[in-house]
Amino acid sequence: MRLVGDLHIHSIVSDGSLHPSDIVRISKVKSLHVFSITDHNTFLGSLIASKYVNKKDQVLLYGAEVRTCLGDILILCPQPVTITCHLYRMVDLCRDNNCILIPAHPYDILRSGIGGNMLMKLWDAIEVFNGSSDLISNIITYILAKDSGIPLVSNSDAHVGELIGTFYNVIYANGFNADAVLESIRKGKVLPVIKYSIRGSISRISWGLKNYLNNRVVSKCLDEGV
Ligand SMILES: [Zn+2]
Repeated sequence: MRLVGDLHIHSIVSDGSLHPSDIVRISKVKSLHVFSITDHNTFLGSLIASKYVNKKDQVLLYGAEVRTCLGDILILCPQPVTITCHLYRMVDLCRDNNCILIPAHPYDILRSGIGGNMLMKLWDAIEVFNGSSDLISNIITYILAKDSGIPLVSNSDAHVGELIGTFYNVIYANGFNADAVLESIRKGKVLPVIKYSIRGSISRISWGLKNYLNNRVVSKCLDEGV
């Protein structure tokens, strides 16, 4: 089946502006079959959202954006796992729990991308397009990743409602559940899609400015915190 999914969204649990229940509602309005709330170093946003999801309508991937020693990595799982900032321990935990690992905005140097490490064989996919990154970072990432053989994905990294689903993926899955979706991404049955708009750009800039003025900083990864 053909599913549409945005795998990188932030809630008020970290530096987003929406309650997880609002993200569930907006994702549904925007016809996203699959979504993930990936708050910084915690699965809590996804856990809260899970109470509001109707599994017949939507697939929730439990997610977190973990700040590792290399940079920011998206962890997407069928169930939450313990978070550790030790990269290789995190990789093992993901393999043991059927999760996938995706470097977030790899060439966005302002936001802890992992750069050339995105080509390591550790990753299940690479986020080549990120709706909160600048166009040049996205283009560089795409050019360097497109022939790597690693599946490519595109996500909004939305912190406000207007941006949810503006960058998304078409996923060809064998079932309407988290395991089937994760398996499809792993196998590369995914197509990244981008949708730049003037309205989206204004939202992005005003969110960035507000964040800057409020001096909101992404906290460091705390070992064993969930
Ligand atoms: Zn993010």
